[in-house]
Amino acid sequence: MSLDTLRAQFPALQQPDLIYLDNAATTQKPTAVLEAMQQFYQADNANVHRGAHRLSARATRAFEGARDTLARFINAPERESVLFTRGTTEAMNLLASSLGGQQLQAGDLILIDSWAHHASIVPWQQAAQRAGARLCPIPLDKAGQLDEAAYLALLAQQPRVVILTQVANALGARAPLSRWLPLARAAGAITIVDGAQGIAHDTVDVQALGCDFYAFSGHKMYGPTGIGVLWGRRALLEAMPPYQFGGEMIHKVSFEQSSFNQLPFKFEAGTPAIAEAVGLGAAAQWLMAQDRAALAAHESVLLARARTGLASIEGITLYSAFEDNAGSLAFNVEGEHHQDVGIWLDQAGIAVRCGHHCCQPLMAALGVKGTCRVSVAAYNTAAEIDAFVEALRDMREFLN
Ligand code: PLP
Repeated sequence: MSLDTLRAQFPALQQPDLIYLDNAATTQKPTAVLEAMQQFYQADNANVHRGAHRLSARATRAFEGARDTLARFINAPERESVLFTRGTTEAMNLLASSLGGQQLQAGDLILIDSWAHHASIVPWQQAAQRAGARLCPIPLDKAGQLDEAAYLALLAQQPRVVILTQVANALGARAPLSRWLPLARAAGAITIVDGAQGIAHDTVDVQALGCDFYAFSGHKMYGPTGIGVLWGRRALLEAMPPYQFGGEMIHKVSFEQSSFNQLPFKFEAGTPAIAEAVGLGAAAQWLMAQDRAALAAHESVLLARARTGLASIEGITLYSAFEDNAGSLAFNVEGEHHQDVGIWLDQAGIAVRCGHHCCQPLMAALGVKGTCRVSVAAYNTAAEIDAFVEALRDMREFLN
């Protein structure tokens, strides 16, 4: 499919004077997703699982069909271990509360990479505090990569849980998952991957990855907001206590005692985000219908172009701009506050993200308050990257 044809499927991109390079925050949505959600509300809208009527049966089929699609999308061994959540944040809270409450004991060690998002850090920090466990960051080396020697030394202390971010949202850098996950499992740790930034760029196979849990958000992979997935190993999920309580997640309830439903419903209390799940299923289907390798290659070319362009402007500092970055690059402009750079670019119709990117510990390690982040998706063009670089060059010339 040509880039023009692909791009034409995204109504939000058709508006004039918009160059959208804030895809790591959220992606735009193709008509396939928008139409699936509209079709659901127009024709099938009902509550799921409980209704006696045909509309509810259709809604249930659409919702559970989305779960089947998502199981295929990440090659989950069975559909029951694919849980719908509100997104990566809720998935991490679910794990930290349920798994953390069950597994952690005083003195236990939890490892987390230094570029983790607050959505991973804070729930596990809370779980560590409740249990008297220690949350320990895996440091960065001088080049800004995760430090393998330090990781090996930390693994020798037999951590209970290891949390790795597939792709760092503030930097675009990739974690060496294929090497590091088996090492963590060999050390006896439960492994959790935050896939929020990886899922749109890499084809994910949770069985090949070999982690115990994998979490992602729909809105970062061309799907709707308010929906995401937590996949987990069935035996672990079955042994874990429920996270939230209410309708759907119960088996039998009396005023004295309640028993709980089987997977996946045990972890899906209350009315789920039904239309959003249908939309996420449509996004996964849309992605599976693309040539994923070609999309990834296109994104790499765009990032390389951005890297070269930024490096050609005097006074720009690039952070961890590795060749295998996925989606994003982070930078600062000498003498300019990152928010001012963002406002300048916005005046030129270019959307980027500026700030701490929910990674305050990483910003402290880099010695900055914040950065600017340019992030690409499959629908971006080389001309858009050139316009972004030229706008920054103009800014440097104008202000100096
Ligand atoms: N983890 C990473 C790496 C992210 O980039 C994000 C969002 O930016 C999250 C977790 C949280 O995702 P959400 O806000 O969709 O729950």
